[in-house]
Amino acid sequence: MRVGRTRDDKGKDFGGRPSSRYSAWVRWIHLGIGLGTLAIVSGLAWLAVATRGCGRTKNGVDSEKEASQWPAPEASLHAPIIRAARGMTKIRLFVDPGHGAEGNTGNLSCFCEKEQDFTLDLAKDMGTYLQQTGRFEVMLSRGVGEVVSYPDRVSASERWKAHVFLSLHSDVRGRHESWTLNDGRTCPRSESAPGFSVLFSDEGGLATQRHILAQSLAKRMSQAGFLAYLGEQYSMYEADPQVQGVFADRHPLDKRIFVLRQPSMPSILVETHNAWDPREVRRWDERHTRTVFFQVVEATLIDFMTARPGELSSEKDKKASLPEADDAGGR
Ligand SMILES: [Zn+2]
Repeated sequence: MRVGRTRDDKGKDFGGRPSSRYSAWVRWIHLGIGLGTLAIVSGLAWLAVATRGCGRTKNGVDSEKEASQWPAPEASLHAPIIRAARGMTKIRLFVDPGHGAEGNTGNLSCFCEKEQDFTLDLAKDMGTYLQQTGRFEVMLSRGVGEVVSYPDRVSASERWKAHVFLSLHSDVRGRHESWTLNDGRTCPRSESAPGFSVLFSDEGGLATQRHILAQSLAKRMSQAGFLAYLGEQYSMYEADPQVQGVFADRHPLDKRIFVLRQPSMPSILVETHNAWDPREVRRWDERHTRTVFFQVVEATLIDFMTARPGELSSEKDKKASLPEADDAGGR
């Protein structure tokens, strides 16, 4: 006989079915809460990964890279290692500040500075720096206020028996627009084609020497952190297949760059930057940028001269077979 009922009994007898339904509901609710929590946690986790991943997307990497790359203000430059041998003969470097010839002032920068003024300032700076290393004698092709023809420059470098002829220039390239400076002057501007280029002539007996010198300088400039221009806008220069930033002169023979083919010692021309690009112009105003560039030149020339034991021999005989260039004023 059943007397009285426990809660369990009651549950079993009367509440059995409702209680089972209740438990099922509770289980479903728990399952629902569990799944919901899982979904929320997974969602948050995905969001966290996705957010962190933003920096790793292509655009993210590119923008980070661009921010640290030349010509960004924060892009760093690194001094090269200079391997100077003891007792080396001083290297006689003839530095040619480009332009400053009759009717030839060169380009106009984005700050309306004449190219001839920039190159002269850089050349004087370079001369001072390299001479104080004790490893160089430097002669400039022109001084302040002087107008000197290109043939006269080449003659001077030969009389002085220079080992190397280095012509300094800035380039202008890319689609440009105008902008107005605070002082009201309107100047050309372009940020589409930054970078340096090193030009050489592959004609005649000095072709290999010039090529080695151009490649060596461009390699070191890139290693130091300068940006090599790849030549997208060049039609009269052929890009070197081995080293970025190196170009052979491909103007018609009578228009080729005088200082690249006429000197009787190896000669190269550096377009240090795009003068229409304010980012580059500002960087080339910096003491540190110039110092690294001078050190790059120093390291390049020491290696070049060390690889050529003894003094450079006269190359006039080799030059004699070249056709004469008319374009003495072009560069
Ligand atoms: Zn120039």
